[in-house]
Amino acid sequence: MIAASLKALWKELTPFNAKLIAVSKTKPNEDLAEAYDAGNRIFGENKVQELVAKAEALPKDIEWHFIGHLQRNKVKYIAPFVSLIHAVDSVKLLKEINKQGAKHNRIIECLLQVHIAQEEAKFGFNTIELNQALSSPELNTLSHIKVIGLMGMATNTTNETQVISEFRGLQSVFKELKQTELPHNVEMKELSMGMSGDYKLALAEGSTMVRIGSSIFGLRNYPTNA
Ligand SMILES: *Cc1c(COP(=O)(O)O)cnc(C)c1O
Repeated sequence: MIAASLKALWKELTPFNAKLIAVSKTKPNEDLAEAYDAGNRIFGENKVQELVAKAEALPKDIEWHFIGHLQRNKVKYIAPFVSLIHAVDSVKLLKEINKQGAKHNRIIECLLQVHIAQEEAKFGFNTIELNQALSSPELNTLSHIKVIGLMGMATNTTNETQVISEFRGLQSVFKELKQTELPHNVEMKELSMGMSGDYKLALAEGSTMVRIGSSIFGLRNYPTNA
């Protein structure tokens, strides 16, 4: 079931040249091992403790992506090994990631989360704040982080027109920034958008990374999107 879903998704993503982040939050290690055996090496988690425990238990060549809202006081636990932090929403958080990256002699890759949904609850910069963050003099001084793109979550709605317009809006911010002069530690390469319910729409709007959980591992027993 897990292997078959992964294979179908990889096939679907190939023409778009997009990466699959298998979102394994709340799922037991056996499920991750099954995905690993099917060839998956990129997993996404949204809770620090859960990520650390899974990274300890599972093979060392896994690329772990942190996709949730990250609290500054928890950066230290994932800094030694995390491959990509998807949802950075403040310069303060970037500074903490930089500090922990320095301790481990690593450059930690990050995406800046942009608020594109209508829902209040979703985190992220608005476009004004995003431009402020990218032009903040402090950002230039952070040598242990690299911002490699943007991440966004569309409104959870069946209104496809709305979801498309939110993804399209993010893509246009991304493309505009690509044309702009950016700090030395920022490069607009990756656009992380799309989940089980909307990844097809996201791919059509230029997503380079889709974060898919339930379509691979089945429904979760409790919501963990907060
Ligand atoms: C849970 C989660 C996903 C995956 O959600 P599915 O609907 O199960 O595919 C993607 N992105 C983030 C940030 C998440 O928290």
